[in-house]
Amino acid sequence: MDPPLPFPQSLCHRCAAPPRYVRSPTAVFILCPLLPIKYPPQPVVQCALFRPKQAL
Ligand code: SF4
Repeated sequence: MDPPLPFPQSLCHRCAAPPRYVRSPTAVFILCPLLPIKYPPQPVVQCALFRPKQAL
C-alpha cells in the first residue's frame, strides 16, 4: 500500500503548479516544479507562487 500523502495541511496539495509526489518505499516527498530548492520545508503555509488548483 502506498504511504499516505504527508502534511495534509500543506498549500502544495492545493496548488496549480502542480507539485510532484516522489515516493520511496516508506515516504512521500513533495517536489515543487517552480522553486529552485525543489523540496520546500513542509508544511508550506505561505508561498508567493501559490495559485489555487481549479476545481474540477
Ligand atoms: S508553488 Fe508553492 S505552494 Fe505551489 S507546489 Fe510550489 S511550494 Fe507548493
